[in-house]
Amino acid sequence: MTKISRRLFLKKAVAGLAVMAVSPSLLTSCDEAEETNRKIRKLAPLAGNYDVVVVGGGPAGFIAAIAAARQGAKTAIIERYGFFGGMATIGYVAPISVFALKNELVIGGIPWEFVKRLEQMGGAFIEWPKANIDFDIELYKLCCQRMILEAGVDIYTHSSMVGCEMSGKSIDSVIIENKNGLETLTSKVFIDCTGDGDLAHMADVPMQPNPDGEVQPSSFCFILSGVDTDSELLNKCMYHNGINGPSQCRPVREKLLAMKEAGVDLPDFGGPWFNNVMHKGSVAVNITRRAADSTDNRNFSAVECQLREDIFTFARVLKENFKEFKDCYVSSTAPQAGIRESRRIVGVHTVTADEYVNTFHYEDSISRGIHPIDIHASKGTHQTRIDLTRPAYVPYRALIAPEYPNLLVAGRCISTDRQALASLRVMASCMGTGQAAGAAAAQCVAKGCAVQDVDTAALVATLKEWGAVL
Ligand SMILES: Cc1cc2nc3c(=O)[nH]c(=O)nc-3n(C[C@H](O)[C@H](O)[C@H](O)COP(=O)(O)OP(=O)(O)OC[C@H]3O[C@@H](n4cnc5c(N)ncnc54)[C@H](O)[C@@H]3O)c2cc1C
Repeated sequence: MTKISRRLFLKKAVAGLAVMAVSPSLLTSCDEAEETNRKIRKLAPLAGNYDVVVVGGGPAGFIAAIAAARQGAKTAIIERYGFFGGMATIGYVAPISVFALKNELVIGGIPWEFVKRLEQMGGAFIEWPKANIDFDIELYKLCCQRMILEAGVDIYTHSSMVGCEMSGKSIDSVIIENKNGLETLTSKVFIDCTGDGDLAHMADVPMQPNPDGEVQPSSFCFILSGVDTDSELLNKCMYHNGINGPSQCRPVREKLLAMKEAGVDLPDFGGPWFNNVMHKGSVAVNITRRAADSTDNRNFSAVECQLREDIFTFARVLKENFKEFKDCYVSSTAPQAGIRESRRIVGVHTVTADEYVNTFHYEDSISRGIHPIDIHASKGTHQTRIDLTRPAYVPYRALIAPEYPNLLVAGRCISTDRQALASLRVMASCMGTGQAAGAAAAQCVAKGCAVQDVDTAALVATLKEWGAVL
């Protein structure tokens, strides 16, 4: 009897399909394996067979998919919302930070091509010298979708990845759930760009320890309209280029702190930041904050309800206390509360704060970062910042886990400590690791090799050809 270990992980229970959730099962005979296979395929029919499947269509994911497809890999992207952009479009997080240091690009290639394309569409304003990118949320979605489709990527939107099938440590397929029911996508290589490391978690990749349980808070961003965006107050803080003053709106912060001090019952807050959305009278507001665990459905749902209350509390306080906001109203809340920190894999190499701030250059450096290390307190109103003097590096080894031959990760869930993540989590940096993961995945497909055997010199050469600044 042949001994095989084929496992199905379906960590989400689907009503009426409990029979399918045999997870994790260790099968010992071909007959049993075939029978289980037959059941799985009946309940989750094969929808596509790919070279590269990218899970998550945020800043890391959509760039990864474009990068892989442009290298000739048959690529699919799975996204649970009906549009791409991740936190930029589902969290109203702005601006895209940071592409440059003193007018010199630090992150180039496809991420920068996206910015220039969005600018041409009238949807981006580049704030030099740091190249923070203010953007129009709707044009961001359109630009993403155009570039993904032009690259020839198959899209599976409105589709949540809910499980995976494995042979040992190799991922055979992912199971998605959408209006068609459950479906299966097989692939040679998978890239986890879910932010929360959902696929890596389902595949049982070890995650970074978090002994004190501290994570950066969630913030529920929203669009406030009817704001006097021509006023001096807003003009001083709506931009992040450091020219007009700090982006954190100090006069509003001081007033809110004084109110709290005087005993007014206000929730904790961060900033606040009033970010340019390229429409006169409207700003994206980042002010609310509460500790939340985005990987626990009940906890996250409950905190999101509290944060929604906080949005309206702060909108009222702004309206009542500042002439610039006297006519303001909440015109839109983001599709979901924003997430700054959750799971990160234990990769072949973990980027530490020490390496990061000291600009450690690795042989396999594949991307950069220049945003400050920026840690928001999960409780209270403060934030710790360490500015970088030189752009830091990210090694390829932070995108792969030992022993998992066909899994890459990119974006917020790469292998870093908490401090290094607090810089690398920003969207330009996530796009940079996405670009590298997509190129590496295509190389694995072309060479038929494991992600651990990627020729990093060739990978770096490809990335440089595209314009990456390494
Ligand atoms: C309040 C707040 C303020 C911030 N401020 C800034 C800032 O000013 N500048 C900046 O650059 N960055 C900022 N950030 C950080 C930045 O937005 C995120 O770290 C970044 O977007 C992470 O990119 P990502 O691609 O890794 O993940 P995400 O942007 O989270 O994208 C992940 C995507 O995967 C999808 N997905 C997740 N799970 C599944 C699944 N199981 N199946 C299918 N799809 C799935 C999601 O819907 C999403 O589209 C901020 C974050 C927050 C929360």
